[in-house]
Amino acid sequence: QDKYKQFIRRREIRVELQNAVDHNFKNFDVYYQPIIDIHTRNLIGAEALMRFTSEKFGMISPAEFIPILEETGLIIPAGRWMMKEAMGKCSEIRKILSGFRMSINISQVQASKSDVIQDISAEMKRTGLPLEAVIVELTESDLLEQNINEKHFLTELKRMGISLALDDFGTGYSNFHYLSELKPEIIKIDRSFTAKAVADEQEYYLLNQFCTMIHNLDMKICIEGIESAQEWLKIRKLCPEFTQGYFWGKPCGYEEFVRKFVQEK
Ligand code: C2E
Ligand code: MG
Ligand code: MG
Repeated sequence: QDKYKQFIRRREIRVELQNAVDHNFKNFDVYYQPIIDIHTRNLIGAEALMRFTSEKFGMISPAEFIPILEETGLIIPAGRWMMKEAMGKCSEIRKILSGFRMSINISQVQASKSDVIQDISAEMKRTGLPLEAVIVELTESDLLEQNINEKHFLTELKRMGISLALDDFGTGYSNFHYLSELKPEIIKIDRSFTAKAVADEQEYYLLNQFCTMIHNLDMKICIEGIESAQEWLKIRKLCPEFTQGYFWGKPCGYEEFVRKFVQEK
């Protein structure tokens, strides 16, 4: 019964997503979450996060709709729309905060089946954004399953000089060989790992060892999912370069983001 309900729900969401893509991305939105430099406590950038409001079910989580976008290939137009939107907003914010950087999540489907590099460079030309203004986030599991096209994507990204952040670190089995090969600028520690580390000594020890290793490989760390001051007190001892979490700010729409995090500076 539940499985059947789930099946019907997915089917309805799929139809709505297709419809939204066909109608100029209506009901899609981009939220922004602040990324904080731990030394200065200043805003240094944001992560752009896709949102979708279903006419039937209300706002649904990307954890639910991103896989449907990927299955149907709709992630390609939707991801392109989202990237343009986020880069446009990034160049607006840089008029006030010149060093501001926008992190954009790219799915494996986009990386292997569309020309993301071309999309990004076209948008950079249009907006006049410099290379360092954009960070591409790829998940660890996507990287481990990389195919030929995606390898090409990674080489091109490197050649152009666009920074890579490795997302979801600590959720799978981390393979350190590809880390030293790929040299992402930033490793993002997933919230599930952060939550375990603040609750459990062993996990904290493990995270501490990972952080030391990542720093020894000359990469930067962004710890995600900090929700409280107590959590922050523990996590800051690990000396990450960046941090992101509800404690600093929840993802929100552009206007609110500017009002809360950009203008008061
Ligand atoms: P992610 O890239 O790791 O993004 C971080 C997620 O953690 C976001 O969830 C954010 O709202 C949440 N988060 C941040 N700080 C906290 C905290 O302190 N507490 C809690 N409980 N959560 C926190 P969101 O927006 O639901 O996105 C989930 C995932 O969906 C993302 O994980 C990313 O993998 C994917 N996603 C979102 N937007 C896009 C997109 O445009 N393209 C692609 N390919 N994937 C996307
Ligand atoms: Mg991300
Ligand atoms: Mg993440």
